[in-house]
Amino acid sequence: MPTDFSSLTLRSALKQTWVALALLAPLTALHAQEPQTPDAAPEASTARVYQTLVRAKRFMAVSANALATQAGQEILRDGGSAVDAAIAMQLVLGLVEPQSSGVGGGAFLLHYDAAAHKVRSYDGRETAPASVGPDLFFRQGKVMSFGEAVNSGRAVGTPGVLRLLKLAHRRHGKLPWPRLFSAAITLAEKGFAVSPRLHAQIAGNRALFAQEPARDYFYPNGQPAAVGHILKNPAYAAVLKRVATEGVTAFYEGEIADDLVAAVRAHRVPGELTLADLSAYRAKERTAVCGKHAVYQICSIGPPSSGGIAVLQMLGMLEQHQLDQMQPGSVEAAHYFSEAGRLAFADRERYIADPDFITVPVDALLDPRYLHWRGAQIDSRMSMGTALPGDPLKMLAKRGKDQAADVPSTTHLVVVDAQGDGVSMTSTIESEFGSKIFVRGFLLNNQLTDFSLQPNDPEGRPIANRVEPRKRPRSAMAPTVVMRDGRLFMLAGSPGGSAIINFVAKTLMAVLDWQMDVQQSIDLPNIGSRNRDTELERGSAAESLQQGLRQRGHRVTISPMPSGVHAIVFDKEGITGGADPRREGRAAGD
Ligand code: GLU
Repeated sequence: MPTDFSSLTLRSALKQTWVALALLAPLTALHAQEPQTPDAAPEASTARVYQTLVRAKRFMAVSANALATQAGQEILRDGGSAVDAAIAMQLVLGLVEPQSSGVGGGAFLLHYDAAAHKVRSYDGRETAPASVGPDLFFRQGKVMSFGEAVNSGRAVGTPGVLRLLKLAHRRHGKLPWPRLFSAAITLAEKGFAVSPRLHAQIAGNRALFAQEPARDYFYPNGQPAAVGHILKNPAYAAVLKRVATEGVTAFYEGEIADDLVAAVRAHRVPGELTLADLSAYRAKERTAVCGKHAVYQICSIGPPSSGGIAVLQMLGMLEQHQLDQMQPGSVEAAHYFSEAGRLAFADRERYIADPDFITVPVDALLDPRYLHWRGAQIDSRMSMGTALPGDPLKMLAKRGKDQAADVPSTTHLVVVDAQGDGVSMTSTIESEFGSKIFVRGFLLNNQLTDFSLQPNDPEGRPIANRVEPRKRPRSAMAPTVVMRDGRLFMLAGSPGGSAIINFVAKTLMAVLDWQMDVQQSIDLPNIGSRNRDTELERGSAAESLQQGLRQRGHRVTISPMPSGVHAIVFDKEGITGGADPRREGRAAGD
């Protein structure tokens, strides 16, 4: 069939206009830095950063902070692998972006091996203590408030990041382990300048101020550490030195582990973490979830995360509706995209949890025939409001609807090394500053609030993602690898709580279906539905879609939608990288 160039040109002209509008809106500082309650989404308090597409020939690193990206770039220059760079970046992020991730948290890592054309996925998710039960978040027979649960010892799961990094290094590392620690140790000892985003989040977080060791560090002289204030963290440097020379056992056993457990147990609302929980922790290799989309093969993390499955479901359901023919930023595209989100979230709430504890029907949920059938339920003119879950394996009657909530924080990094190997890693301590419990210079996660706080739904059906001993809470993280003809094409992921799914799906669609460059794709306003209202990003061109969506029966909410997508895409000229203007990251490469 001959190509209709006139419509192609028109389409790309419209795309450019939309992107220009989308870029203009965020350039203004959006929200005042007002104090927030600990449960609010303080992400709204930071201004946007102007980002441009970055190009490189040999390798590239992208993360949420320039110092971390620089650490990764140095490792790559020294001949390090993508995993080596990711380790160095994570250790720096734990210092300079402590509100989002660190050695006190967990992560999922996807690795692309260029020689073998193989994707491997690694799970460093936190685990519940061995002694807890489904009533972990109950007090006197009643479920705690979400805020109380988050800021407590009970929310702390056994951290997984260091064991995950060690496992990945054993498999894919090139430089010696201690070398990967030097940038973070030096920065922790000499100090780093507090960034605008870190300052705003410290200033807006009353729960952090209430925790004494955290207060001493983050509020020098009783005031939130100012932008540019040089923050030194000798305690964190000392932890890193020991792990660098003695290995990760120095963290999971001995004095550091003693202090970690003591801090959790000494909290006003104590947790039950033990030394045995720490020493028993193992990172796991998991089977990646993969699917086809147009000419691409997309792989992401499987359970205990729901992220990969939900992203693949959305793309699969939308295939029959030819989104590539729709205008990005049109009411029509937003309608279909949010309807697909509703359907994916409905399944997510019933079926996905730790696969070591419950059968997750992964293949059935990703079967192209099932996805075609689900996608066919999208009406072109009217929103379905609330989607019902599908029942591909007739197990719905026994699955309660999940009651988990989350508050967005977290971080995502991507790396490509000179061999063409890649890493896509999402890392988290769950909500902003995690549980706020600060031990030896790092924060402990509150990941266990990613479990359903209630074990059963109101109809009495057990919830797949209920608390159980040594179980991993369900996640929404979706570190993703895209291949074309078996070769690496794209790496992407995002923080953002359960909205991660929409952030990642949007970026993939913009690159793969709308052929936007990676920076334009990240900049594109965030939209989507988590099977509740249709959300449109505040302060962006997407606000103009309200009326059109309401006419199609959508209940619309305008909200900040703070993604933190970091991504790499290969094009004809080499490697391109993009960082999210909603955070303060940086892409850099040689
Ligand atoms: N704890 C969330 C998850 O694992 C991530 C939180 C966030 O991205 O802010 O899905």
